[in-house]
Amino acid sequence: MTRGIEEKLTSRHVTPTAMRLLVLDYLEAQPAAVSLSDIERGLAPADRITIYRTLKTFEENGIAHSIEDGTGSPKYALCHENCNAGAHHDLHVHFYCSACKETFCLPKSVIPEVSLPGGFTAREVNLVVKGTCAACQA
Ligand SMILES: [Zn+2]
Ligand SMILES: [Zn+2]
Repeated sequence: MTRGIEEKLTSRHVTPTAMRLLVLDYLEAQPAAVSLSDIERGLAPADRITIYRTLKTFEENGIAHSIEDGTGSPKYALCHENCNAGAHHDLHVHFYCSACKETFCLPKSVIPEVSLPGGFTAREVNLVVKGTCAACQA
C-alpha cells in the first residue's frame, strides 16, 4: 500500500483503517465506476455492510462520489483532489456505455448550471449521457 493513498484519507481527516485503504486502493485501480457488488467481489471475503459504510464515509468527505446511471445500482468513483468534506467541486457528466455497461467519469465535461424557477432549490444534479464508448465503437 502506498503512502499517497493513506495521505488521501488523513488529509481529509478520515482515519485510514485497513478496510478504507483496501476500498480506496481498489477504486484507484478501476478504469470505470464500480457498484457495491463489484467492490464486494473484488475484495472478497469483505463484509458488504462495511464496504457500504466505507463508501458513505468517502462520499461525505469528498473522497468518492456516487453516480445514478439508470441501471438501478449506484456506481462509485474517486473524486478529484479539490473535493472535501461536504463539498464536491467536481460536478461532471457521466457516460454510460450501453454496449459494455460501464459507467465513466468525464471530469472535463462540467455540468452546466441549470436555471430553476423561483422557490426551487437543487440538492443534487445528475447528468448521464448514454451511448457507446470508444472501446466499443472500435
Ligand atoms: Zn464521476
Ligand atoms: Zn463500452
